[in-house]
Amino acid sequence: MKTYDVVVVGGRVAGASTALLLARAGARVALLDRLRHGSDTLSTHALMRAGVLQLTRWGLLDQVIAAGTPPVRRTTFHVEDRPQVRVTIRPNAGVDALYAPRRHVLDRILVDAAAEAGAEVWHQTPVTGLLRDDAGRVSGVVAAPPRRGRVRLCARMTVGADGIGSLVAREVAAPLVAQGDSASAVLYRYLGGLEPAGYEWAYAAGAAAGVIPTNAGESCVFVAATPDRLRRLRREGAEPAFDALLGLAAGGFAERVRAARPSGRIRGWAGLPGYVRRSWGAGWALVGDAGYFKDPITTHGMTDALRDAELLTDALLAVLGGTPDAVALRGYQETRDRLSRRLFEVTEQVAAYDWGPDRVQTLLRRVSSAMSDEVDHLQSLPVRARVSAASARSVVPDIVASPR
Ligand SMILES: Cc1cc2nc3c(=O)[nH]c(=O)nc-3n(C[C@H](O)[C@H](O)[C@H](O)COP(=O)(O)OP(=O)(O)OC[C@H]3O[C@@H](n4cnc5c(N)ncnc54)[C@H](O)[C@@H]3O)c2cc1C
Repeated sequence: MKTYDVVVVGGRVAGASTALLLARAGARVALLDRLRHGSDTLSTHALMRAGVLQLTRWGLLDQVIAAGTPPVRRTTFHVEDRPQVRVTIRPNAGVDALYAPRRHVLDRILVDAAAEAGAEVWHQTPVTGLLRDDAGRVSGVVAAPPRRGRVRLCARMTVGADGIGSLVAREVAAPLVAQGDSASAVLYRYLGGLEPAGYEWAYAAGAAAGVIPTNAGESCVFVAATPDRLRRLRREGAEPAFDALLGLAAGGFAERVRAARPSGRIRGWAGLPGYVRRSWGAGWALVGDAGYFKDPITTHGMTDALRDAELLTDALLAVLGGTPDAVALRGYQETRDRLSRRLFEVTEQVAAYDWGPDRVQTLLRRVSSAMSDEVDHLQSLPVRARVSAASARSVVPDIVASPR
């Protein structure tokens, strides 16, 4: 049986970042994911300022740029037939451009940084259950690495960073503290030959669309509507549905998209209303979509995950240092919820698709203002220097959970 300070289930933006920061602080960490290293996942990739700020603070933005991720220096809003609104990304908080790395780029950079910092990374290793001690406290996981049968990994804390279908949340019966009603269904694809003009967002006739410049000279183009509407449109197939919503929402760029070179198939997301779960308990915590999910129409899930990985890391380090779980982890959830509430609420309204042009412009202004609190908060946190695993070992006291 192996023992760690923290076992993290799920190795993408939320889990790999948490493992990275814990390992840099000297904690003994295992990071497990059921998929292979560098795999892709559903996403339209757009990072907002707080997400780019986190990558900068952790010393990883250079790698994202070196992977050929283009800088985004402008956002253009198209609302029905109104004049376009162009917003230049002004330098602030050390961020002078936004980025939208493909997930096989970003998630790999985070996982590799976690491994370099000393985290033990187990890919192709599904977690199948949780361990508990006699008092019912979560004390680790049961996992199934390739060709090794079942293994038990004990830990003082177990983190569920395992996304919307979180096994950890299910096993601990994490209660819902907020439940949304609205949802976007999304179709997206990659296109070459679209002259990138920064992020472009379009809203009209109860539909939305966007252009997001990403790696390999391609742009990710998405269309979105209510799940019912998209389901009806898809009866004719994904291609006509994509084109119909593009034409409805994106008068400002539909023709440019139609003239571009598609690369690969159209991918789809059926929609899921947002939720907030209680994200801590005896021996466990949730981060990323496992604990808090909001509709992708405001393209903020990864930025949230990068933020919350750091909030959770600080709480976990406090727990490892002897602060009671209830004090440290309650503080984590309170800060997460305070920084998320306004964006969660306005995202619900955008994802309802029942707005006209005036209303959606008001909502978009609220989205933008809701993002500023988190940037201020992150700037107030200490910079996370790169620390080698060996030198960091002295930072966290030697309080590895004993096997039970
Ligand atoms: C269509 C769509 C578009 C989006 N576009 C954007 C965008 O433009 N910008 C943005 O910021 N956000 C976007 N999001 C949201 C963003 O993708 C998520 O918020 C983000 O991926 C959450 O990261 P995570 O690490 O919490 O979870 P995930 O990325 O879901 O990762 C969870 C990991 O856990 C692993 N796992 C699950 N169960 C187990 C298990 N039992 N054992 C081991 N491993 C397990 C999975 O294999 C997975 O790798 C979008 C979402 C969707 C659906």
